Amino acid sequence: MVIPELNKPKDTWCLHYARGLGCNIYQDRPPSCRDFSCHWLIDPTLGPEWKPNKCKMVMHAKDDALAVHVDPGANTPWRREPFYSQLLEKSARNIDRGAMVLVMEHGRTTIILPDRGVDLGVIGPGDRIALAKVMTVTGPIWQARLVRA
Ligand code: SF4
Repeated sequence: MVIPELNKPKDTWCLHYARGLGCNIYQDRPPSCRDFSCHWLIDPTLGPEWKPNKCKMVMHAKDDALAVHVDPGANTPWRREPFYSQLLEKSARNIDRGAMVLVMEHGRTTIILPDRGVDLGVIGPGDRIALAKVMTVTGPIWQARLVRA
């Protein structure tokens, strides 16, 4: 993730990360690092398969969105089971209140709807995601689209 205080861009290694050891400025790490809560550690519904170093994904809940950040070196791990089904389930449980499940991968964002993932592309500053529940011949479905700033 982006660490503004360190000018660290997304999808790059932090200069303070020591392989096999962890953060070498842990006591003095910046506020962005201190404030981060890995969702895997606080959501009891997420099993051991979601441990970030195993699944290659880190979840972060903020406001009304659950963001799944994917390791750029991994090949769409969120599409594999049991991850995909669990993401669909999380979407189904929360979308009625406007909460979104978003997968961030290679600069693109995919929104997970209750029955599928929709690639929204690259989201720019001020862009927003519009959600709509529409009726079809087989029942209601959710649709999502990106509204450019
Ligand atoms: S916790 Fe340490 S290693 Fe991790 S991003 Fe922050 S400063 Fe870098």
